[in-house]
Amino acid sequence: MSANVTPPLDTLEQDAARALPALLERSYARYSNFTVAAAVIDDEGRAHYGVNVENAAYPSGTCAEQTAIGAMITAGGSRRIAKVLIAAGSDAVVQPCGACRQRIAEFADEACEILSVQGGEVTTRTPFWGLLPQSFGPRDLD
Ligand SMILES: [Zn+2]
Repeated sequence: MSANVTPPLDTLEQDAARALPALLERSYARYSNFTVAAAVIDDEGRAHYGVNVENAAYPSGTCAEQTAIGAMITAGGSRRIAKVLIAAGSDAVVQPCGACRQRIAEFADEACEILSVQGGEVTTRTPFWGLLPQSFGPRDLD
């Protein structure tokens, strides 16, 4: 048996969903108090986490999805996103903003899903490409 068995994606999904509520406490949402935590699960079965980081110069703030994608790239290895999990401190169902949809599109695989997390559990599941149809992406520059 291999020592490097990757857990099934659904197990990773559950683990990532359960990790997000605690991560919300690390969010830097000084101005809006709208805390967000995200997990990006790559196609090699690794989870990468991020939180929103606001800034006194408001447009300089970053979304949780953006910081999670940065963590994936920084980790090396796969750059293909299988799932993005998102939780908000308000416990609202949150979908990625327009800018993050474009950021996710850069790395999303064909079956990429967006999962909303409430109370550490996945509550909604949305096919990513339905959120950004006919998008501009890397293939347009090939
Ligand atoms: Zn965003």
